[in-house]
Amino acid sequence: MANLMKQPVLQLNASLEALRIISAKKALTLITKGIATTEVSTNIQVYPHIFLPSVIRLRHYAKVPHKRPIPSRRNIFTRDGFKCLYCGAPASKVTLELEHIYPRSRGGLSSWDNLCSACRSCNQKKRDMTPEEAGMKLIHKPLPSSIHTPRFILKMLGAEINAWAPYLWNDSTGDTRFQYVLH
Ligand SMILES: [Zn+2]
Repeated sequence: MANLMKQPVLQLNASLEALRIISAKKALTLITKGIATTEVSTNIQVYPHIFLPSVIRLRHYAKVPHKRPIPSRRNIFTRDGFKCLYCGAPASKVTLELEHIYPRSRGGLSSWDNLCSACRSCNQKKRDMTPEEAGMKLIHKPLPSSIHTPRFILKMLGAEINAWAPYLWNDSTGDTRFQYVLH
């Protein structure tokens, strides 16, 4: 049961816009309080007559400010498709680390355009050199953040969950970066 309560649930606004990913525990609380309803259910029963939701929807429209997301580990790894941006090794095969492209020891910023995912061996090879000094090349430039980034990150995180697809892919923002990172 404890694990079930940690299952990811997609939270939609009343307008069906995907807002964020929350835990099943939080989702069930919102439903119990009458703040949200189940939009898509799983077939996993958690209490009598109550099934674990996969997607919930707020009853009332919530105004959500468009904030630029912070360049956290999770956000950077997600943006880079959980792959090393130097050698392309996937997180399933290597340990990914957060890497400062222009070294932090020399004033490189912890920003969207100076951070990327790197596997441990690329990171150790590069040490506190620039890519040029280390003779290493990025597969592509780190993608910048924009007001579309939160949605892009949601798409990446929810890519494996079929029930979420209609809610994550119903926009017309022309966001083609997803395909780019999937390669
Ligand atoms: Zn690598």
